[in-house]
Order: sequence, then C-alpha cells, then structure tokens
Amino acid sequence: MTDEPMDEPTDRPENEPTAERRDAPAAEPAWHDVCDRYVAQLAPPGLHLTQALANSTARTPADYDPLHELTAAQPWVNALTREWAAVHGAPEPRIELTEPGLDRVRRLRTTVRAILLRDGESTPATLRIPVDAAIDGERVELLPTGVDGQWLESAVGAELVLARRDDALRRLKLCREPGCRTAFYDLSKNNSKVWHNADTCGAPQRMREYRARRRAAD
Ligand SMILES: [Zn+2]
Repeated sequence: MTDEPMDEPTDRPENEPTAERRDAPAAEPAWHDVCDRYVAQLAPPGLHLTQALANSTARTPADYDPLHELTAAQPWVNALTREWAAVHGAPEPRIELTEPGLDRVRRLRTTVRAILLRDGESTPATLRIPVDAAIDGERVELLPTGVDGQWLESAVGAELVLARRDDALRRLKLCREPGCRTAFYDLSKNNSKVWHNADTCGAPQRMREYRARRRAAD
C-alpha cells in the first residue's frame, strides 16, 4: 500500500498534466493493484501471483498494463516477489527482468488466462515448468527455480499445481463477459459464479439473451 491519497488532490495546479494512462500505479505498486482496479474478489494467498498476472492485462486501451514495457514491469515483478516472500515466509528473491524474460512473462500470462478461462471450447492450455520439489513424509513443497522470467513461470506453475491439489484452482476464474474477463475468486458455496460482478457484467449477457429471445419470437 502507499500513502497516496485515493482521490485526486484538490490543490493540483490547473495546467499540470494528469497521468497519461488511467490506473497508472504509484512508484511502488502493490501486487493486488491490478485486481483492485477491476474490483475483483481476491484469491487466497496461494494464488496471489497467478491472479495478479491474469489481471495485469489492460481491459481497455486506457487501462494500465504493467507488462507493456520493462521499466514498468520490473517494479511490478518486485511487488510480486515481495508478496511471494511474505506468503511463504522466505527471503525475497531478486528477479532482474530482461526483455526476453518479459516476453516469457507475457506468454505465461496468455497461458494462465487460457487455463482460467474454461469456456469449454478452447484447447486446454499446457504449462510446463521446472520447480524444486521438497518432499518428506509430511508434506510437499514446490519452490520456484530459475532466473528472470523463468522464476515467475516457476512460481506461478507451483501455485497452480498446489491450488489444483487443494481444490482451490477451480474457484479462480475469468469473468464470462467477453469484454471483461477479469480473474476473480468465487467464494460462493457451490462455486457457481460466472461473472466477477453480476450487476456490471451479468447485465450485458442478460440483455443479449433477451434480444435473442425477442428475435426468436418475431
Ligand atoms: Zn466481469
């Protein structure tokens, strides 16, 4: 979190330019900024990197995409590694992103979003990842390995595997509304939500269905 005020400061000089892109993050972004801007229900800690990555896409051209360039991606990845360290009680890994590493993270995002979409039509996405596995009689621990974008690939892959094992992964989904596709965590008892916000994203679908019924009746 930052000390930035939530609202526009009232003492802004009249000619001072406002941020070029809406939602441009403060100098120190928080991992969940990209989820909060779409008002997405947050996943449990074990899926934070996955959800943040999925929601880092720009929903409209005016939305901020931290992966659009290296200078924006590095502080954002730092926020993710900070969060990973906090969740796992581990030292914070220092990940230096390169351009090829950033490309790798962008491809990872595409794959993760395909995994979460589950529209029943797309080809299932496959993510092959190296991880360090520590296994004893009591538990299994998957630790990310690699440098640059590979580390994030490994960390997100480990989250997906463990969340699948714990039956939490099926609750992390992309909103059904094609113009939205926000990644949200479904807390409903029977895991039945399809929209991240039934008011804003369910309404267009209901309108389309209504029109289709009208056309069919005519
Ligand atoms: Zn939505």
